[in-house]
Amino acid sequence: MRRVAILGSTGSIGINTLDVIRAHPERFKVVALTANKQIDRLAEQCIEFNPTIAVVGDAAGASRLRTALQEKRIATQVLCGSESLVSAVTQSDCDTVMAAIVGAAGLVPALAAAKSGKRVLLANKEALVMSGDLFMQAMQSGGGELLPIDSEHNAIFQCLPQQFTKAPHDYLGVEELWLTASGGPFRDTAMSELSSITPDQACAHPNWVMGRKISVDSATMMNKGLEVIEAFWLFGLPLEKIKVLIHPQSVVHSMVLYRDGSVISQMGQPDMRTPIAYGLAWPERIHAGVGPLNLTQLAALSFAEPDLTRFPCLALAFSAANTGGTAPTILNAANEIAVAAFLDAGLPYLRIPEVVEKTLNHISSVSASSLELILDVDAKARHVASNIIRQMNH
Ligand code: NAD
Ligand code: MG
Repeated sequence: MRRVAILGSTGSIGINTLDVIRAHPERFKVVALTANKQIDRLAEQCIEFNPTIAVVGDAAGASRLRTALQEKRIATQVLCGSESLVSAVTQSDCDTVMAAIVGAAGLVPALAAAKSGKRVLLANKEALVMSGDLFMQAMQSGGGELLPIDSEHNAIFQCLPQQFTKAPHDYLGVEELWLTASGGPFRDTAMSELSSITPDQACAHPNWVMGRKISVDSATMMNKGLEVIEAFWLFGLPLEKIKVLIHPQSVVHSMVLYRDGSVISQMGQPDMRTPIAYGLAWPERIHAGVGPLNLTQLAALSFAEPDLTRFPCLALAFSAANTGGTAPTILNAANEIAVAAFLDAGLPYLRIPEVVEKTLNHISSVSASSLELILDVDAKARHVASNIIRQMNH
C-alpha cells in the first residue's frame, strides 16, 4: 500500500490524482492533503479520504476546515501556513508525494520531499526551474525516486532506456529529446489581435484542461520554455539537445531521438490521469480512467518549428536557460508576477514578455548555490517585476 501526500490537492493535478487513487483503494492510502484557499473542496476531500494531516493557507481557513470536519467526525489534524506544508511531507508517514502546488510556493515542500527520500511525483515544474541543481542533489542524497508528471517529461521518461541515468558518457545512444507543444489557443491568431486577448480567452486551452496560471503559460509558450529547463535538469542532456516541436493535436506527448535513427514517442489522449497513474504505480501500469486513442479517427498529426516572434516568452526562456545560474529563477518569478497581473489586474497580454525581459535585464544572474540565495533572488525579482508593472500603468 502506497501512502500518498498530495501538495495542492484542490488544483487540477490534485483532483486528477485523487480520481486515480479513488479507483484503486487497495493500492493507495491518502495521508496528507493541502490547499491554499479552497476550504470547501478540501473539506470534501478530507471527508472522503480521511487523511492524517490537512494543511491550508491561513488560520481563518484552518478554523473553517476544523468546524466542517468536526461535524462529520473526521479526525484529520488541521494545520496552516507555508511551514506546515513541510509537515505534511515529514509528519504524515507518507512514502509518496505528489508535488502539485503551482509556482514558487511549491519549492520548499517539494525539496523537503526530495531530501527525505520519498517517491516524488513532480508536477510543480517551477521548483525545478528555480533550483534544478539543488533539487536533483536533494533527490540523490535522499535516495528516493523522482517520477516526472508533466506529460512531456513523463512521455520522455517512458521512451528512455530503463538503465538511463543522468548524463552517462554517451547517453545510451540518446541524441535528442523532442518536447511537443500544442502552441496553445493563439497559435494561428492574427498578431494584431493579440493585444486585446482576455484572461478567459488565454485560459481556454484547445486540448488540455488545467489551472489558470499554466494555461496562460501555455498560451505564451512560457510553459514550454520552463519545460525545456525542467528537461535539462531531469535528464541531464545539454540544452542544445532539447528541441521543441509544435504539434497542435497533442497526441504525441514527446519523443526521444536515438543515434541509430530511431524515434520513440509516447502517445495517448491529452489526459493528465495517464502520467499520474504511471507515476503512482511505476514500474507497474494501472487503469487511469483514460480511454484508448482511436488512431483511425484521428485527423493527420502535424509538427512544425515554433515561431519565436509570435512566442517571445519561449525565446526569453531559452536565453535564461543558456545564461544559467539564477536567470531561470528570475524568469520564473517575473513570469508569475506578470501572469497574475494579467489574470487579476488588467495587465495587457502582450506586456507579459515585456515584464519578464525587463526584469531579466535588471537583475544579473549569479550562481544558484543555496536555497536561501534562490529565495532571495526570487523575492527580489518579484519586487522588480511589480515595480515595472506599476510604471507601465497599463
Ligand atoms: P491549479 O491552480 O489548478 O492548482 C494549484 C494548487 O496549488 C491548488 O491546490 C492550490 O490550493 C495550491 N496553491 C496555490 N498557491 C499556493 C500557495 N501559495 N501555497 C500553498 N498552496 C498553493 O494548478 P495545476 O494546473 O493543478 O498545476 C499545478 C502544478 O502542476 C503547476 O506547477 C503546473 O505547472 C503543473 N502542471 C499542471 C498540469 C495540468 O494539466 N494542470 C500539467 C503539467 C504540469
Ligand atoms: Mg507539460
